[in-house]
Amino acid sequence: MSKTVLITGSTSGIGLGMANAFAAQGYNIIFNGLEADGAVIAQEVATKHGVKHLFSPANMLEPEAIREMIAAAEAQFGSVDVLINNAGIQYVSPIDAFPEDKWNAIIGINLSSAFHTTKAVWAKMKANGYGRIINISSAHGLVASEYKSAYVAAKHGIIGLTKVLALEGATVGITANAICPGYVHTPIVDKQITDQMVAHQMTREEVIQHVMLGKQALKEFIPVEAIAQAALYLASDAASQITGISLPIDGGWTAG
Ligand code: NAD
Repeated sequence: MSKTVLITGSTSGIGLGMANAFAAQGYNIIFNGLEADGAVIAQEVATKHGVKHLFSPANMLEPEAIREMIAAAEAQFGSVDVLINNAGIQYVSPIDAFPEDKWNAIIGINLSSAFHTTKAVWAKMKANGYGRIINISSAHGLVASEYKSAYVAAKHGIIGLTKVLALEGATVGITANAICPGYVHTPIVDKQITDQMVAHQMTREEVIQHVMLGKQALKEFIPVEAIAQAALYLASDAASQITGISLPIDGGWTAG
């Protein structure tokens, strides 16, 4: 029987890339995201790979909507076998001008939603004696950059959560790991280039070369596929002894 993966924020960017990679391996896919055409995107991926799917526009700021999404997934597929907490937003501002509502939204979407999804899938994973939790953190879960207080706090926080889940899951067949990407050219980064131009008083090219790729030794954006294949590996049987790690895929950024 096919395994089922739920990927939050999977109708764009890295999440969509992971959905494609897991669908290519025959997984049932639970899509989630706020894109207006999310249902269409999900249907296209599922049709392309001939897999079963569900699309949920659940807002990751709403615990009740998260629980409903997981109940619907379990009703259709029995259990969520692989949970990928990927939904995320960014906001760039010096600390003294950082808006409170942006702080709350980033902590809510990038960190707290992973608590709510995990809590909701845990019982079935435990009963099955099998589960894989993959949290998409960031190089910013390991090191900081200025003007990203909420994002860096949330991404460090999700690494802490990952370690706790690894310990609690160890006796019940559940592994938990984090992936820490460097810059991947997705919509979240496109918007950030504009924000960074204002924050740093730089041109677009200066932001890409100095603020973003300046930190990555390999000087290239990370391909979405590199993150997707790492997630597939962490979900595979070959990775059954890997738990509690934070895997940088960052072109050498955090080596520096
Ligand atoms: P993206 O903007 O392309 O995708 C983000 C997804 O999250 C979208 O589908 C969006 O609808 C969804 N989302 C946002 N708010 C939501 C909410 N309230 N409820 C439900 N869904 C919501 O960005 P991406 O680059 O693909 O980012 C995916 C993850 O990877 C994020 O957690 C991000 O922090 C992380 N990341 C990205 C990069 C990068 O350079 N792109 C680097 C490191 C980590």
